[in-house]
Amino acid sequence: MAEPVFARLAIIGCGLIGSSLARGARASGAAGQIVIHDASAFARARIAELGLADEVTLSAEEAVSGADLVIFATPVRAIGEAAAACAHAIAPGAIVSDVGSVKAAVSEALSAALPDSVHIVPGHPIAGTEQSGPDAGFAELFHRRWVILTPQAREDDAYLEAVQRLADFWTALGAQVERMDDKHHDLVLAVTSHLPHLIAYNIVGTAADMEEVTRAEVMKYSAGGFRDFTRIAASDPTMWRDIFLTNKDAVLEVLGRFTEDLQALSRAIRWGEGDKLYDLFSRTREIRRGVIEAGQESAEPDFGRKRGG
Ligand code: NAP
Repeated sequence: MAEPVFARLAIIGCGLIGSSLARGARASGAAGQIVIHDASAFARARIAELGLADEVTLSAEEAVSGADLVIFATPVRAIGEAAAACAHAIAPGAIVSDVGSVKAAVSEALSAALPDSVHIVPGHPIAGTEQSGPDAGFAELFHRRWVILTPQAREDDAYLEAVQRLADFWTALGAQVERMDDKHHDLVLAVTSHLPHLIAYNIVGTAADMEEVTRAEVMKYSAGGFRDFTRIAASDPTMWRDIFLTNKDAVLEVLGRFTEDLQALSRAIRWGEGDKLYDLFSRTREIRRGVIEAGQESAEPDFGRKRGG
């Protein structure tokens, strides 16, 4: 096993992503020691039972003290507060990151909560499932998945070195690392992840509310399309509420474009413009091919698990 990239990793919030991080860091040897704090007593008990950490702490302060890498893996809107609660205990020079699905708001919240003496390098693994909690994680979750780091506007050597070290950590966990501007990340993810989830929540809600079609019929005849939407719409309500509230501008911008395109489709159907429908459906097939060629569709039978916010 290679040398640990970090001597002591503290994970604050240990559900699906935090526990996958702990498992991945342990399996790869990327962290020498793993210390976890979670606000939930139930989660803490499970983390201890599953043996995910060298230490499970009652407070975030205990977890972060002495850590050279701190990763916040709570829902997005809890990150700022969680960081403020333990800021004084984080060692100068430590690297502080997160896994939140929205980056500009989290970066701001971390900067407001933490002293200048730490290196804040926000991050987002594009990997996940519809499950929550420490039991749901697995070490291979990040294998061959992208992790987007959104470094802050700092060019000093110590900071650039911190960014590279964090990238090395994720690489050790099997991920591919990309660096991106945080606002651009939020726009890209609004298109590729946030809007699709909003559509899924909406379509499942619409089907559930339709009076002419019974709920039993919706479930019984849920062929491919609808069934896939129900899987996405089963994603964690807290996590997704936070994503829409913190990535409001980008989501509304993309939703505006989407609504206009939907209107155009609606007109094409109304006026029997089959060529317009055919052209769009042919173009979208090409996109699907591109996704497969980019290696972001897995051949594994359990691919349904491998998606995320
Ligand atoms: P999760 O399974 O619900 O786990 C979150 C854990 O954090 C819970 O145990 C929660 O406890 C705990 N927590 C909440 N507030 C806390 C605080 N202030 N201090 C310490 N612990 C706290 O969530 P997840 O799916 O792992 O998501 C975590 C983060 O990863 C989110 O920011 C999300 O946007 C991001 N992400 C998720 C996915 C995905 O597919 N799930 C993919 C990529 C990124 P309680 O249950 O008591 O609140």
